[in-house]
Amino acid sequence: MQNWAGNLEYSSTDIRRPRSVEELAEVVAGASRVKALGSRHSFNRVGDTSGVHVLLDGLPQEIELDSEARTVRVSGGVSYGELCRRLDRAGVAIHNLASLPHISVAGAIQTGTHGSGVNNPSLAGAVERIDLVRPSGEQVSLSAADGDQFLGSVVGLGALGIVTGLELSVRQSFHMRQRVLENLPWDSALENFGALVSSAYSVSLFTDYAGDVIDQVWLKALDSEPALAGLFGATAATEARHPLPGMSAETCTPQLDEPGPWLDRLPHFRHEFTPSNGEELQSEFILPLEQAPAALQAVRTLAAKVAPLLFVSEIRTGAADEFWLSPFYRQQSVALHFTWKPLQAEVEAVLPELEDLLRPFGARPHWGKLFTPASHDWEALYPRFGDFRSLAAAHDPEGKFRNDLLDSILGVPAASAR
Ligand SMILES: Cc1cc2nc3c(=O)[nH]c(=O)nc-3n(C[C@H](O)[C@H](O)[C@H](O)COP(=O)(O)OP(=O)(O)OC[C@H]3O[C@@H](n4cnc5c(N)ncnc54)[C@H](O)[C@@H]3O)c2cc1C
Repeated sequence: MQNWAGNLEYSSTDIRRPRSVEELAEVVAGASRVKALGSRHSFNRVGDTSGVHVLLDGLPQEIELDSEARTVRVSGGVSYGELCRRLDRAGVAIHNLASLPHISVAGAIQTGTHGSGVNNPSLAGAVERIDLVRPSGEQVSLSAADGDQFLGSVVGLGALGIVTGLELSVRQSFHMRQRVLENLPWDSALENFGALVSSAYSVSLFTDYAGDVIDQVWLKALDSEPALAGLFGATAATEARHPLPGMSAETCTPQLDEPGPWLDRLPHFRHEFTPSNGEELQSEFILPLEQAPAALQAVRTLAAKVAPLLFVSEIRTGAADEFWLSPFYRQQSVALHFTWKPLQAEVEAVLPELEDLLRPFGARPHWGKLFTPASHDWEALYPRFGDFRSLAAAHDPEGKFRNDLLDSILGVPAASAR
């Protein structure tokens, strides 16, 4: 079994598709190593195991809306695409979405997946309750009332249990318009960065860091926000655009200010379009928003090495949250995302240099993308890192949910059989 990008083959020796949570709990209890996989859109081995992989698409795929409480209960195997269609039919919405709707809700939230918007928390920000199966097969359900247990588990890298269900907060459905601006001079972007990324509900910048201009600015605006014909020297595109210059915009969500529902504007790509596999790699580094101009300027100094490996880089933002291993933990952030060409060796060769460059800005790597584990001081990056490690050791002392990547980050559990 491979991941979506096809850059890695999982090491599991057994793949199971339990038909009920009880059956899943039995599989987990009986395995010495086990891990869940969602839609396999991660680019690294965070979801790998040398034992049993459980796929949750055989479980009843429940999406139950509680209109009064403004929450939705979602089973572990459901994707955002499925969830959003159902929510929209009921007249409700989620606050934000990633660029692609095909990812699983549980897998996305476990790695801190996010969209953009200075006031929009990551997808984990909607979680009100999380249901987990522990290594013994015990089923637990945690909410904010459980304090640290909850705050440590929501962005949990799959290290604290198999997520069988989540309760997410929803809001009234909303309409948006999307507009692309072009050729934003780097100098004015850096000078006005805060105002630029606050100019609409969700703002994304697309660049390869070479040259004097940022190619595209994607503005996703609410009905209540003004239409911006230009901004800091950028001008409105007169045709729909793909983030990659020269590519057809057919696969992209509607632009040119055409109003439409949140679920067809927040992602960059249409739900009905399934991106082909194996054509790209990704890395992303998340750091405090106020550091953005200096960090971006630093990356520009590496443009000669980075640009030839890039399809494109996307610059996004996100609001702070309270989840211990969330890259947005307690800081309003900017996220520097890199969509690489499928040249893993070359990308892995340049990553340490990029990570060295971003270290002084407190950059936290995206847990589901390519990074160099040894390049990061996890304790310094995450104030509650030690607490997360203790939580994982307490709930999984034998390291049933561990793999080499998690061990290299969290350390090998004391009672691990390996
Ligand atoms: C084309 C593309 C676009 C992307 N766009 C974005 C984006 O806009 N923003 C962003 O932040 N990221 C983005 N990503 C990254 C992606 O969101 C993350 O890698 C996310 O984890 C993928 O979810 P998944 O279901 O595929 O998880 P998987 O890769 O299947 O698993 C990821 C982790 O979650 C764990 N996991 C999965 N399901 C469960 C479960 N039920 N219980 C416990 N643990 C579980 C796995 O064990 C593993 O540790 C993108 C990736 C791709 C390929």
